[in-house]
Amino acid sequence: MSQTSASTDVDMQSVTDADSNGNNMNENGNVSGNRRRAPRPCILCAYHGNTSVVTRKIVTYLEDAISNVHKEEICLQVSEELKNNQMDMTPDEVEIHINQHMINKQVIMSNIVHDLIDIARASKQSCLLTSEETGQSAVDPKQASIYFKAVDQLGAILRSEAFKANKSTA
Ligand SMILES: [Zn+2]
Repeated sequence: MSQTSASTDVDMQSVTDADSNGNNMNENGNVSGNRRRAPRPCILCAYHGNTSVVTRKIVTYLEDAISNVHKEEICLQVSEELKNNQMDMTPDEVEIHINQHMINKQVIMSNIVHDLIDIARASKQSCLLTSEETGQSAVDPKQASIYFKAVDQLGAILRSEAFKANKSTA
């Protein structure tokens, strides 16, 4: 008989509901199970305006990076920096903060710029039609019109004072 049935009956000794000191987080950064609020409170919202060096650094980075760095990268970096400082927020939660909580000019403008770039790129790609029979190229007026409108709007945003102000102050 080679049955090895090691008892995994380890007593976890977890301190459950020992006392309620009002701590939201333990040393591991986990939110204690006592709270009944389903969505976690947003740390970046909660700490907005906080004068600690860490939170100021994160908020400054966020506002500066929003028009210069890919959003996925921003979310990763902010999440990492929070983790380094014993605050727990996943990259997805950071993205929710950017998209749904930070309703400010930079965020809205950079989202629109990204959309316009996508539209310009897509319409430019489908703008030129080549006839299979004759091999001749022709411009699709509908796609060309979309392309020029997107470029126009992009130009207007890039020339706007708000966008320039955002880019020049670093
Ligand atoms: Zn938030």
